[in-house]
Amino acid sequence: MLTYTCDVWTQFLEFVKTHCSKTAFGNWIEPINVLESSSDAITLEIPNIFVREYLLSNYKKELAAFLPVNANGEPSINFVVATPNLKVVASSTPIIKAPISLNATADSYEFKLNQNYRFETFIEGPANQFVKSAAIGVANRPGQSYNPLFIHGGVGLGKTHILHSIGHHIRENNKKLRVHCITTEAFINDLVDHLRNKSVDKMKRFYRTDVDVLLVDDIQFLQNRLNFEEEFCNTFETLINQNKQIVITSDKPPAQLKLSERMIARMEWGLVAHIGVPELETRVAILQHKARQRGLDIPHRVAFFLAEHLYNNVRQLEGAVNRLSAHCRLMDLDITEELVEQSLREMLQQVPRQRISVDQILKSVAAVFQVRVSDIKGTTRTKEVALPRQVAMYLSCKLIKESLQMLAASFGKTHSTLLHACKNIEKRIAAEETLRRQISMVERHINAQ
Ligand code: ADP
Ligand code: MG
Repeated sequence: MLTYTCDVWTQFLEFVKTHCSKTAFGNWIEPINVLESSSDAITLEIPNIFVREYLLSNYKKELAAFLPVNANGEPSINFVVATPNLKVVASSTPIIKAPISLNATADSYEFKLNQNYRFETFIEGPANQFVKSAAIGVANRPGQSYNPLFIHGGVGLGKTHILHSIGHHIRENNKKLRVHCITTEAFINDLVDHLRNKSVDKMKRFYRTDVDVLLVDDIQFLQNRLNFEEEFCNTFETLINQNKQIVITSDKPPAQLKLSERMIARMEWGLVAHIGVPELETRVAILQHKARQRGLDIPHRVAFFLAEHLYNNVRQLEGAVNRLSAHCRLMDLDITEELVEQSLREMLQQVPRQRISVDQILKSVAAVFQVRVSDIKGTTRTKEVALPRQVAMYLSCKLIKESLQMLAASFGKTHSTLLHACKNIEKRIAAEETLRRQISMVERHINAQ
């Protein structure tokens, strides 16, 4: 029987090995020891209770599939936390691996900040201006302005970039302050290591006495980690009570995180700032900035085209620049819209095929009204240009599902100018058969593009 259950445990291990990182496997799974087993249950020796939590929250279904289950279909496992004696007894079969970082002195907490993530390289626009200025405020007067500063927003919108910028700024302007930047995942792993090595006090001491500024990335990973949450909350309170600056990033606002009320309240103490998806113009500026950094010159038109088609996050824009850069270097080609479409086809396909762009509308309006796209985009107010310009704005509002602000920005106009154009054209369509026909020609032309 022992052999049978041990076998299924081995099979479970094989399965997990292929489904988690090497580090996670080493940290969480490897230290587990099978103490006893029968066809009804298995008894696992674990180094601390967090391992139980980790196993059950990540692999409950799989455990039930591999191991004996109870009447409710739940894995039937008894957990025994290893005592120091037990570990000695078990030493004939050394399952517990050598600790990863025994010497958790201040030196081992290296300062890991991405060199490129600085305020100077962070392009601002309406969607991220507030966050950037709050971050600069905190970086200039750590612990004295907003504490904590809580930054939230979707993936790839620059949270980590801002967090590291704060770190660099403080480091460069206030050398005495000790900045510690850590991901929540790393904090948890660190805690696990220290628990395993019975050196939690060392870690506590480090946070209490050796850190002046704590930058914590991706706090959402603390969700459903009850025991870690408490330790984190204690660390947090100790630091805040000493006026030490804390900055936290998250993919959601505090109230939407599945964390204790205490933790949420603490995070709402200071300033909660949202970072949004950059508008089209900011996306264009980011693209051109990233391109310049790589020695690439993307014509404005192409940057505009790309930014229009890659609108979810900044990481996508960066990916596009990287690919383009590789493509151009390899083939020694100029960057044109055709090249962009060719080399980034899969990326651009993320945009629904029938999605219409302002550029397409401009082209079609220009063709039907016999004017130049550059005239429509320009500022001349002659009748020949003013009407097609208003038609292009009207069709953009009608055919493109973007905010008025964003559409207005594509025309370099305010949102009230755009609204005025739409109303005017609607009124004229009702009365003018010729204009009605011209507009439906433009629509057919767009669909044929
Ligand atoms: P998050 O942490 O929100 O997922 P990151 O900070 O990792 O996002 O940003 C993803 C990439 O986009 C990074 O390379 C970052 O430099 C870049 N980025 C995001 N926003 C901006 C911006 N406003 N200006 C310049 N680069 C940006
Ligand atoms: Mg990040």
